[in-house]
Amino acid sequence: MLLYNTLTKKKEEFVPITPGKVSIYVCGPTVYDLIHIGNARPMIVFDTLRRYMEHKGYEVNYVSNFTDVDDKIIKKSIEEGISSSEVSERYIKECKQDMEHMNVRPATTHPRATQEIDGMVAMIGTLIEKGYAYEKNGTVYFSTRKDRYYGKLSHKNLDDLRSGFRSLQVSGEEEKEDPLDFVLWKPKKEGEPFWKSPWSEGRPGWHIECSVMSRKYLGDTIDIHAGGEDLIFPHHENEIAQSECCNGVPFAHYWLHNAFLNIDNRKMSKSLGNFFTVRDIEQHYDLQVLRLFMLSAHYRSPLNFSHDLMESAKSALERIRNAIDNLNYLIANAKTQAMTDAEKKNAGELPGAAKRFDDAMDDDINTADALAVIFDLVRFANSETNEESSKEFVRAIKDEILMLGDILGMVFEKKEEVLDSQIEALIEERQAARARKDFARADEIRNQLAQMGITLLDTREGVKWKRS
Ligand code: AMP
Ligand code: ZN
Repeated sequence: MLLYNTLTKKKEEFVPITPGKVSIYVCGPTVYDLIHIGNARPMIVFDTLRRYMEHKGYEVNYVSNFTDVDDKIIKKSIEEGISSSEVSERYIKECKQDMEHMNVRPATTHPRATQEIDGMVAMIGTLIEKGYAYEKNGTVYFSTRKDRYYGKLSHKNLDDLRSGFRSLQVSGEEEKEDPLDFVLWKPKKEGEPFWKSPWSEGRPGWHIECSVMSRKYLGDTIDIHAGGEDLIFPHHENEIAQSECCNGVPFAHYWLHNAFLNIDNRKMSKSLGNFFTVRDIEQHYDLQVLRLFMLSAHYRSPLNFSHDLMESAKSALERIRNAIDNLNYLIANAKTQAMTDAEKKNAGELPGAAKRFDDAMDDDINTADALAVIFDLVRFANSETNEESSKEFVRAIKDEILMLGDILGMVFEKKEEVLDSQIEALIEERQAARARKDFARADEIRNQLAQMGITLLDTREGVKWKRS
């Protein structure tokens, strides 16, 4: 499988550290509000990568953090007159709900920054001991000049950056030895949450969180580190500096970055105010539409959000779901079970489609081409099946479409609520068929009910049923 590595600016063959296993760390959201659909892009894209790697047989350890200590959280807690942990608890809960509705699976571990402070104090201590960090008035800075590889991820000209940053010095950080030095630990201000440390009562900088959580849950060197492209500099550059200077080994082998979700060709962001939350979108669309919309573009291409594109994703999803409904109807009513020779030949197309799907995904997660394979299969289903088709043939096509959809985290089969009254009407009809000795029809109804997830129990007191 080829993955584009920001570190080398090339597509590279993916080779895991441990055969059969993959470790992935994805920088998660800062939890001070509902997530917007820009934040949803890395969640959907890298969840899809995880699913595909599992499909290829890898055991995936997927870690994604919640940043639950931050200026924006503190600001919100002051505005609302509640503690910052109440703010972050609330939005972690909301974020998990959005993830579930987008069919983004929970990470293997979702560490929270505030629960990992000891590890951060320890790593900062090691960096000071090794001469990579220094303390000034309770603040600890990372000394970027001490790290001779600093800048290797973002490929930036550090001298240009230094002169640019000199004029943009953040107030309170005047004592930095170099404009590119960044904060590892900072003292508390009045009313802020704080933890004890050898340098001051205060809190960690943002970058150190990920270095510590990645090491704790995945080890010193991991396979894949991912996030949105805005994180390349300074966040990921700084994570590399901290982790590699502390641990003395490479931090991550592959660095993956998704491009932005834009509106009117500008980045969707909270600060610009041009955003929709996932919750806004859910009021108008099934979130599977949002997922399909995201996956219809390559993750490294900017994606412009528009009503028209969402509407076309909606009709595309309906097209697939209608095809599946139709296949379900044919399965329930098929007159023959086993495939004919002609159908066997025709079904020979299916492995080819699966291969094209894998080829697309193997080419740096080309979900747009992978989706195109699913649409080809939908066309194939619509043209090659009819009421004369065998059950086995129709089911083979349906299973293939659902299986490929599942790898992308797409759910194509509507799980409609089956009403008790519908079930009871079918059971009555089955009893009538049995009474007139039409056992074929009775069996057919039993099968139809089984497909709806209903099991029939013939008891002495009559027919009972249960949902399975
Ligand atoms: P934040 O809470 O801002 O740190 O963002 C969480 C994740 O969402 C990071 O990986 C960001 O890079 C990503 N992200 C934020 N805004 C966008 C956007 N408009 N498009 C794509 N990714 C984004
Ligand atoms: Zn991070």
